Amino acid sequence: MSGAVLVVLEHDRGTIAPAALEALTAGRALAAQLGTTLEALTVGSNGDSLVADAESFGADVIHQAHHALLTDYNPEAWGEVVAQMITATQPAVVLATGTDRGNEVLAQAAARCDSAFVANCLTFEPGQPGGTFGVTRVRWGGSLIERATVAGTGTGTGTGTATGTGTGTGTGTGTGTKLLTIAHHAVDASPAANPGAGTATVFEARLDPSVARTMIVARVERPAGVTLATAPVVVGGGRGVGSADGFAPLQSLADLLGGVVGCSRAVTNLGWRNHTDQVGQTGTRIAPDIYIACGISGAIQHWVGAMASKKILAINTDPQANMVTKSDYAVIGDLHQVIPAITAEIERRRAT
Ligand SMILES: Cc1cc2nc3c(=O)[nH]c(=O)nc-3n(C[C@H](O)[C@H](O)[C@H](O)COP(=O)(O)OP(=O)(O)OC[C@H]3O[C@@H](n4cnc5c(N)ncnc54)[C@H](O)[C@@H]3O)c2cc1C
Repeated sequence: MSGAVLVVLEHDRGTIAPAALEALTAGRALAAQLGTTLEALTVGSNGDSLVADAESFGADVIHQAHHALLTDYNPEAWGEVVAQMITATQPAVVLATGTDRGNEVLAQAAARCDSAFVANCLTFEPGQPGGTFGVTRVRWGGSLIERATVAGTGTGTGTGTATGTGTGTGTGTGTGTKLLTIAHHAVDASPAANPGAGTATVFEARLDPSVARTMIVARVERPAGVTLATAPVVVGGGRGVGSADGFAPLQSLADLLGGVVGCSRAVTNLGWRNHTDQVGQTGTRIAPDIYIACGISGAIQHWVGAMASKKILAINTDPQANMVTKSDYAVIGDLHQVIPAITAEIERRRAT
């Protein structure tokens, strides 16, 4: 049994996710608290290039899982690989990114190992009285901070209240390895003062093709440069836009302002836009100088992804819509008339 803290490094064909460096940083601190070593796991041979990153963040051992099915992200296959690593090395803790992928992979692994899994942690408090392991974690899109206790073996659950505190305990029959994800931005990524040993070791995963039920069949490459998460201007569209084609005027306005188009989940559910454009709890959290929210009601799950915007302009036919009442500026009207009018006015002024 290694008893190590094992960090699963999220990457896409060898490009490391920024959140993975946060996970390594948090993992290093947790390993120091537990008096154990930091190890890392890369999934897929295209992740072999991440050894230097892991080493500089303090990893002593980097397990490199190889298999032909691991070229692209695949939640079932990645989860199976993590489960096999747990069986093979018995780490004390497996830590991953608190992203959609990190949470999905550890949920897959936890179900396979019957282990405790707690998502989106902010802090870790191992060594509590009775040998329990305490955590604080984010719930409900950031509106609740929960204090929970992860039982030594099995699945732990917690309860909390909207006042911002909560307690929970869990029991069950698992491997004893705790599976945790660290919430995005809970820690700042910082390399170790002293790099780890950085010993790379190949782990030949055993994967039956039937495990790979979710496959990437096409990749949408965003143009380099401005992204939804970093754009200074986001023009967001909701169900009120009415159709996929209805987004053309929003795109024109975004192009004019050097911004990008975002959308609500209603829009992605309807298939009008790709999930990569979705703003919100289960999409991207944005922080532009201005968010122009068109035909979006402002449900809490959308709002938590938009509330870091410096200014919000809502365009909506409903003056009572959440997005309108919470915005800095609002135009009450039909977006199909208002957006072309704004675009025309900007073009007119730029031409003079
Ligand atoms: C677990 C969970 C996670 C979720 N995650 C997300 C998430 O990440 N992001 C997200 O967005 N949602 C998320 N949702 C869904 C969320 O609850 C809402 O259902 C969704 O945000 C509503 O999208 P909408 O505002 O486009 O649609 P609606 O709520 O239907 O609002 C449409 C708005 O358009 C206005 N409108 C209609 N016609 C016009 C017009 N011609 N001109 C101007 N205004 C018009 C209406 O007045 C209304 O305000 C999540 C839900 C759950 C349960």
